[in-house]
Amino acid sequence: MAQIVKVLIPRPVWQAYDYLLPDTVSNVVVGARVRVPFGPTTVVGIVVELPASSEHVDQLRSVDKVFDQRSILTADILRLANWLASYYHCPIGTVIETMLPTDVLRGRPMIVDPDFEWMIVAQDHAVEFKHAKRQKEVWELLTKRGTIPDAEMRKVGVIRSVLNSMETKGLIRRVPLLPKYQFKTRGIKPTQEQDIAINSILAALESFGVHVLDGVTGSGKTEVYIRVIKEVLEQGKQVLVLVPEIALTPQTANHFRDRFGDVAVLHSMRTNLQRFEIWCKVASGEQRLVLGTRSAIFTPFKDLGLIVVDEEHDTSYKQADSLRYSARDAAIVRARDLNVPVILGSATLSLETIENINRTKYNSYRLSARPGVAKLPKFQLLDIRGQTLQGGMCHSLIEIMRYHLDRKGQVLVLINRRGFALSLICHDCGRRATCQDCDVSLTLHEYPRRELRCHYCDRRYELPESCPDCSSNRLVSIGAATQRVVETLSDAFPDVPVRRIDRDAVNTNRKLEQTIEAMQRPSRCILVGTQMLAKGHHLPNVTLVAVLRADAGFFSADFRAAERTAQLIVQVAGRAGRAEREGEVWIQTHDPEHPHLESLAKSGYAGFVKTELISRKGANLPPYSHLALLRAEGTNSEAVSAFLEQLLTEIQFTSTEKLGPIPASIPRLNNRWRCQAALVDSNRKRLHESLSKIARSPMQRSKIRWSIDVDPLDMS
Ligand code: ADP
Ligand code: ZN
Ligand code: ZN
Repeated sequence: MAQIVKVLIPRPVWQAYDYLLPDTVSNVVVGARVRVPFGPTTVVGIVVELPASSEHVDQLRSVDKVFDQRSILTADILRLANWLASYYHCPIGTVIETMLPTDVLRGRPMIVDPDFEWMIVAQDHAVEFKHAKRQKEVWELLTKRGTIPDAEMRKVGVIRSVLNSMETKGLIRRVPLLPKYQFKTRGIKPTQEQDIAINSILAALESFGVHVLDGVTGSGKTEVYIRVIKEVLEQGKQVLVLVPEIALTPQTANHFRDRFGDVAVLHSMRTNLQRFEIWCKVASGEQRLVLGTRSAIFTPFKDLGLIVVDEEHDTSYKQADSLRYSARDAAIVRARDLNVPVILGSATLSLETIENINRTKYNSYRLSARPGVAKLPKFQLLDIRGQTLQGGMCHSLIEIMRYHLDRKGQVLVLINRRGFALSLICHDCGRRATCQDCDVSLTLHEYPRRELRCHYCDRRYELPESCPDCSSNRLVSIGAATQRVVETLSDAFPDVPVRRIDRDAVNTNRKLEQTIEAMQRPSRCILVGTQMLAKGHHLPNVTLVAVLRADAGFFSADFRAAERTAQLIVQVAGRAGRAEREGEVWIQTHDPEHPHLESLAKSGYAGFVKTELISRKGANLPPYSHLALLRAEGTNSEAVSAFLEQLLTEIQFTSTEKLGPIPASIPRLNNRWRCQAALVDSNRKRLHESLSKIARSPMQRSKIRWSIDVDPLDMS
């Protein structure tokens, strides 16, 4: 009887399908790619099982091509895929589609041979090349140079057959060109606190464990990672380092390259081919040190010995659509499965991680000071009640800036909204300019052209001459955003360059690097920007950080907004005073008695965490309960709400708490109505049983899109 294969297909399907292996194919292994008919087309899928029989043997269709003789996926990657599918209630086919690089799914042949170079095989007699002029040239080149990479041979035009025939004759041979990891200390001697962390983690390398580095900004967390990585590489094993965003990778990648000589970098800006090549080289074991963003957690490793998750609190580890996974959590699951350690590091740990430390599930190490003379900046609140604001800033703040600029310090201004003004309103009737397609106010932009923009759907509008409701022409812009702050500061300090960092001004990685580079020079300047400022950049000359309006997040309806706001403020503050010069942080606010601001000013992030954990506990919110969000959207708001209502009836008799359906915080986006319902349960298993029922509910509405988000970070 013909062999049956079970194939996972990268389409939104919940299970693998059986196919027949044609007689012409003698053998296939689990983890090989095959092309199979699927509906009216064919797709490349992965063999996941070789079952002895199938229910409908006579109806099975046949595999029409086998791509691989060997498995291209490690067994642990398949286990991870299954975990992701069941934990995030996502079809296994979608999981596979998210995990595998495009070129793998296109059936591109795997690169199994490592890069290599050619060298001469020692001869005990003189070699003569009478008629083989080409061979003689190669021989002479190799005699002179010792070894030459194969790629270089191709580049200088040496024909493959020449090399092959010399190889057959035993004149030359291939030697693998493996990256050499050579560790350099660069004169850094770990501090006592760093030593404690390094040695404790090194003592626990042989098994799974979560090690948390709770280190203030600039305390040298990276140095701890590097020392541990060095040992793992020396044991011949592989290491994966995850970082939040591309913006962070150039600096971090250079740092790792400098210390180890080589690092493979995986992020979304890479071409399909580059991603594929690195994927192959990591799978073959050739590349041993990999630095990557979120999806790098899906790379198959031959012998993984350690995972590092830097800035573990960062929300970019969570994917917002399709497979809504957290790369940090997937890293922990994968490390446990492989029985290897994982290091999480941050100056502003997520409350989930802090709670896991408190429950002694994770080990933690504290780096409380910056090495050398650099000191942590002090937080101060600036009460602006009743004060006249100019471009969103009070007079005393501008004077504080002047003080720092006069002493050749650099100034950083955080204002978390791009554009010129938050909104445009009619001074006579109060009408606010809103987007026609979304329930949000429009942001006024002055540059590169004067217009109103919707920050959600990106629709743009001409500025009205007068109010559409009352015809008044007294339209006023209110609330400063980045462009307005830049304008105000350029007027106040005409001889100081003022730069802007937001998504409009800095839309490429290169531009961001240039701006950051310019700031490395010790000359006076002001940098105004959004949360992009917080991203780990090293700005040694900044002595003042000013925070405008950032505390708005403390008043948001999203229960996680306070945590994100505190993290943002502390991270931006961490850019100051990184070198010899001490730094200051001023937070402008209308509400200086707000408990979050008070605790932040008095005892930093730890102070905030203490008060916030108490309020989460009181409200039975994560990390004290487990949460999932059902989101639905469609063209008719009643239908969307009714749909969610009906979905919830699937679990009406369970004790999982159901909140909603309620309209989303932005009820209409792109002309689609949005509703959501939250499921909360103190028991994780029970929550997942409820979610399974919902995920597999037969109920569908053609015009309604809906999704399940497990452990949602964004509640809007
Ligand atoms: P973090 O990641 O904790 O914000 P970094 O790892 O970027 O901090 O370290 C901040 C700076 O301190 C870097 O320039 C780093 O080279 C330096 N540094 C780290 N450890 C030491 C040490 N033990 N002695 C001297 N300098 C150090
Ligand atoms: Zn009006
Ligand atoms: Zn819009």
